[in-house]
Amino acid sequence: MLDTASLRVSFALVALTLLVLFYVVTYRTGRSAYAAWWCMSLAMFLTGASAYLLDGTDHQVWANPLGNVLIVAGAGCVWAGSRSLRRLSLPLWWLMVAPVVVGLFSVVDDPADNVWSGGPYFLAAMWIQLALAARELWLLLRADGSAESAERRSHRLSLWSLVVTSGGVAVFYVGRWIAFLAVGPDDPPFTTVFGGEVTTLVTTVLLATVSFSMATVSDEQQKEELRELAVRDGLTGLLNRTEFLRLAEEELRRTGQEGDLGQLILADLDHFKRINDEHGHLAGDRAIIAFADTCRSAVRATDLVGRYGGEEFIVLLVGAGPERADQVTDTVNAELRRLARDGDLVLPTVSYGITTLDHGIDLEEAIEHADRALYRAKEAGRNLVVHHTPETA
Ligand code: GH3
Ligand code: MG
Ligand code: MG
Repeated sequence: MLDTASLRVSFALVALTLLVLFYVVTYRTGRSAYAAWWCMSLAMFLTGASAYLLDGTDHQVWANPLGNVLIVAGAGCVWAGSRSLRRLSLPLWWLMVAPVVVGLFSVVDDPADNVWSGGPYFLAAMWIQLALAARELWLLLRADGSAESAERRSHRLSLWSLVVTSGGVAVFYVGRWIAFLAVGPDDPPFTTVFGGEVTTLVTTVLLATVSFSMATVSDEQQKEELRELAVRDGLTGLLNRTEFLRLAEEELRRTGQEGDLGQLILADLDHFKRINDEHGHLAGDRAIIAFADTCRSAVRATDLVGRYGGEEFIVLLVGAGPERADQVTDTVNAELRRLARDGDLVLPTVSYGITTLDHGIDLEEAIEHADRALYRAKEAGRNLVVHHTPETA
């Protein structure tokens, strides 16, 4: 049988190798929060396991509690890292609770002679934090969309392996904790099933799996962020022109043959130059952002809203008739008036050109129709909604 001390040395070597690889390959290239947290966990596990190697020497009195504190802090970093994958942070003091409690109970629990100083607190802190990490990963997996591409599938697979591994190790620690409370650290089943050997093997597997999956997930998330940057307008977060046109084409092809295809709206803010000139560029930017937000909340999740140019916007109301287009412009105008009255924003009126998407005309043509209707609205004095008809053309 392998003894705990040699297993711990091999565990420390695995952790060190993973730490170096993970730091150089994943963290240094991406500098993401989760990569940083995982590097921290590896460092804590590594130093914690090394501290335990001093058990049985004169140094045990401080090394044993220190090992507990470091390992528990490492599990806390796994939790923080899982949360950061969901773009959530964790107040630092939450992460301090478990190490401080475990440290205090270990120090007063005869650490000079007792290698299990603070044992029940240590085991409870481990399973609680690992279970919290598994929960975060599970929520992330549930929020993740369907697996349509090979890339997405490997992303989901990595998330699954993170959930299963962290959840599995959490369950293992629940078992250790119960066995510890029931029989203590010197009798079976604690010594047979939940002893140092098995634990070191289980945590080695945890480190390897998590390192590998974290690298994949972190890589995929970074690509996702770059994709978002490429398709969104930086100021408003709306679709940029290219992406709007691409999605609108796709939508029209998809809805295809029957029923109402939808309404296309072009909106242009009135006398916008004056806002910039009289109130400054920043006030102009804030007006653009407010209009974008208002538009976004006035339409359905399946509709498309894009920033077409400087202060021009384009909206596709999927499957809608002209009445819904009027409803949307009414809602937007009413909300803008409310914001101008209640807030400290300077907001312009807006001119709209609207066209019905007919079968047999392409998007480019439809945009031209909406643009001509918009021109009529400007010509007729602005702050107006004009629908394209053969007469307005
Ligand atoms: P009209 O009613 O005829 O549309 O008049 P307008 O002044 O709105 O029209 P024009 O196209 O002459 O001016 C648009 C202005 O919008 C000019 C440009 O400086 C401003 N603009 C474009 N993009 C931005 C932006 O991102 N931020 C700010 N603050 N201003 C912008
Ligand atoms: Mg304008
Ligand atoms: Mg304009």
